[in-house]
Amino acid sequence: MDNQDNSRRSFLKKGFASTAFAMLATTGAEAFSLQIPGRDKKDPKHIGQVGKHFVMVLDLRKCIGCQACTSVCKVENEVPHDQYRTFVTETEMGEFPDVRKGFLPQLCNHCDDPACVPVCPTGATFKREDGIVVVDNEVCWGCGYCISACPYDKRYFNKRTKTADKCNFCAQRVDKGLMPACVETCIGGARVFGDVNDKNSEVYKLIHSFSTSVLKEAQGTHPQTFYISLDSRIEELFSTTQSLDDIVKAEEGFKSEWEKTRAEAHNHG
Ligand code: SF4
Ligand code: SF4
Repeated sequence: MDNQDNSRRSFLKKGFASTAFAMLATTGAEAFSLQIPGRDKKDPKHIGQVGKHFVMVLDLRKCIGCQACTSVCKVENEVPHDQYRTFVTETEMGEFPDVRKGFLPQLCNHCDDPACVPVCPTGATFKREDGIVVVDNEVCWGCGYCISACPYDKRYFNKRTKTADKCNFCAQRVDKGLMPACVETCIGGARVFGDVNDKNSEVYKLIHSFSTSVLKEAQGTHPQTFYISLDSRIEELFSTTQSLDDIVKAEEGFKSEWEKTRAEAHNHG
């Protein structure tokens, strides 16, 4: 399936690239600008935290599938109804009486060789110097090339902003020294975030103490979200969307909780 997927993706990329260049050639210099104001001005929000390399470790031994992360992410990032930056799929494994549930938190992998970046004709999608892959939605024109290019299906077209969207590791929080919302609220402590260049960081210690896996390694995108205790059966099924309805139900309970916490933090801040 990967071979088929790869050739489809490669075809799409070529098609997208030629369409983009055709558009560049025919629309004329005044129709749009390829300047990227934030980065041209070296805005720290766009450059990131130089010298750091942010990653996430997902310790599946601790994930209980509660969807607190799914829920707070939606509130923190104002993700529209029925759309998600992160969610946790649920898989039943084994046969009675030896059965168990496996949970797989999913999000943008902030790949070191992100398939979404080279296809972007405007430069709206890029990797900051600290490894966080972001979408500048003031520059994005919503063509959706990046959405098709991501082998993990971790991008979507945001109904509200009319631009491409995905997890940004809550860069707006990280740049203030806070943790991503999903990490802060993870009940089981399954989500760990930090600078892997720092040998004293928890992510560095986890990655160097346990065997870790990444999703769809064969795609060659070098994901920067690392899973501890990833069962191969879950990995095979990871792209299923079976649990989205359940996620919607479960998340409602957490929304008001997070809204309260966030309001309190703002009042004290
Ligand atoms: S997971 Fe997809 S959207 Fe995220 S960096 Fe990798 S290719 Fe891009
Ligand atoms: S949708 Fe936006 S971010 Fe994605 S390729 Fe198009 S311009 Fe770039």
